[in-house]
Amino acid sequence: MAKPNLKITEIFHSLQGEARAIGLPTVFVRLTGCPLRCHYCDSAYAFHGGERRDLDEILAEVASYKARNVCVTGGEPLAQANCIPLLAALCDAGFEVSLETSGALDISAVDARVSRVLDLKTPASGECHRNLWDNIPHLTAHDQVKFVICDKDDFDWACFKVSEHDLCARAGDVLFSPSFGQVNPTDLANWVIESGLPVRFQLQLHKLLWGDEPGH
Ligand code: SF4
Repeated sequence: MAKPNLKITEIFHSLQGEARAIGLPTVFVRLTGCPLRCHYCDSAYAFHGGERRDLDEILAEVASYKARNVCVTGGEPLAQANCIPLLAALCDAGFEVSLETSGALDISAVDARVSRVLDLKTPASGECHRNLWDNIPHLTAHDQVKFVICDKDDFDWACFKVSEHDLCARAGDVLFSPSFGQVNPTDLANWVIESGLPVRFQLQLHKLLWGDEPGH
């Protein structure tokens, strides 16, 4: 029987640039393809192309970097059905695994050992209508919710959603991140302080260190 395979854009070793594991050496597995088209997307090069690789090959390359943390990202990783067995296999191999997902696809089948980073799309992303709100009851303290904020209206919308869905109680972390080059990070930091919400402001470390270069 053929082994499960996935379309892969790149596998690389870098520092985790955001969320709970920020700064830790991490292997990134970037899956090809995404059904969304957020206007600020910084990984559009993963929409097409890629190379089919089977699960054993992927696991062997990930292990070769000798990092403890692995982040499965995209594109939208869950758009490929074999992402689910990949995540389980990475957990079985002993890695600390996180998944970056758009929030538009069902997360319920993801292995419970995986920390899911659910990127809820704001109105200014252009893809807000794709948010799958049925995902919210599946969130646990092991998971994280992220909002990429493009302007003050996005910020106000995100604050409303945090309260409406009690996200700070459901998820381990709620992250507010400025859309790169669109909103002044200092303005966002001040809005977060003024809001009084227990959300975490973050800057994308990899962009400060390496700009928008793929492979970091
Ligand atoms: S979900 Fe992510 S990969 Fe897909 S278009 Fe939006 S930012 Fe890009």
